[in-house]
Formats: sequence, C-alpha cells, structure tokens
Amino acid sequence: MSVHHHVSDELLLDYANGSLSEGWSIAVATHLALCPHCRKRLSAMEATAGAMIESLELEPAQASNADTSWQAMRARLEADKVGNKGQSVADKPASAAPNFAEVPVLPEPLRSYLGKDIDGLKWKPLGRGAYHIKIKTGDADTSVRLLRIPAGKPVPEHSHGGRELTLVLKGSFYDGQGRFARGDLEEADQDVEHQPIADEGEDCICLAVTDAPLRFKSRLVRLVQPILGI
Ligand SMILES: [Zn+2]
Repeated sequence: MSVHHHVSDELLLDYANGSLSEGWSIAVATHLALCPHCRKRLSAMEATAGAMIESLELEPAQASNADTSWQAMRARLEADKVGNKGQSVADKPASAAPNFAEVPVLPEPLRSYLGKDIDGLKWKPLGRGAYHIKIKTGDADTSVRLLRIPAGKPVPEHSHGGRELTLVLKGSFYDGQGRFARGDLEEADQDVEHQPIADEGEDCICLAVTDAPLRFKSRLVRLVQPILGI
C-alpha cells in the first residue's frame, strides 16, 4: 500500500517557508507523517527555505500570524518526537517504506489536536449516516474537521467557495476522477464539483480543511448548513 495523491509543489513550498496558516498546515503535516516521498521533497525544499524567507518581505502583521501558526505546528511535531523517542514517523529515513501498521490511525500532529487516537472520539451526526468532529485551532480562516462517511455511501455533491484539502486516514473513496486511500491528499478549489463516494467494506475517515463554507446543490442541505456548522 502506498500513497498516490501528494501535496502540490505550491502547497508544499508554502508549508516549507512557514507561510501556510495552521489549518492547512495540519493537513500537509499529517500527509507528511504518512508519506516518505513528500518528506523527501520537503527536505529538499527546506534546504533552500532559509534563503527564501530572507528574501520575503511580508507585512509585519502577516509575518507574525504566519510565524505563530508555524511555531504552534512545529511545537506539536517536536513534542511528538520527544514523547515517542525512536518511534516517530518523522524520524524515520525518508527512503524507508511506509509501514502503516506502526502508525496510529491519527498520526501527529493531528492526534494531539484531538487528544487521542480514533477510538473513543465523540462523533456528531451529519445526516445520511455521516458524522463529523470539529477540530479547534488558533486559525480563524479555516475550518478543520474529521469526516466519517459510511461505507458505500456518498457525501452530498458540492462545489467549493474556496480551497478544500481532504486527507484520507482510514478506508477510501472514489470521486469520479480517482480513488483516494489512506495518506492520499485531495486538493480542490471552486472549479471542482465532485461527489466522493466511500468504497464498500469500511467507513471512510478523512481530515477535511476548508477556507469557506461549502456550497451544496440541495436547497435542503443549504438550509441546515448553518445548524450543522459545515
Ligand atoms: Zn506525498
């Protein structure tokens, strides 16, 4: 089993130079925990990141926001390395094949945001057998959630008001264009209209990060959207 859908160059570069806000960073960092290929790409980018940051002329407020989110993220990753000496995924050589059996369903930094692994989480019903959990971050510009889509069932068809990152943690889904399984990251924007359907066999659990409320086609879904907080 290996990861087939990776972080785009643009997104990885933003992550490498610390300009990505906390919500997006969680999705990228969690993908990295599951993907040796992208960890190798990141190492190459980090080798030049220092020089890039020096050449960036960010507004002071922008710079401090980015710094805070970046530092919060890195702090969680560092804490994980210390807490699991010798076992951290991030410590493994970039060339090592991923051994998913060693990794919890929720890798760091995601796990520490929820305080535990997948067992014992309190899911809230989203209708049609789907569930979600909102994840609190210090980033007001994004919405970060875990989604659980029942096996064989679709999530409501929608387009996006902005960017959406979906990272599969368990199970898999097919969105009409490709199949996404554990570790795969899907980047979608306002031009994408898709209807992901969870594969048969097991529920699909994903991390979903958005920067704007989703626009559902169904009027009924749009009516209940504010109530569900999606
Ligand atoms: Zn990757």
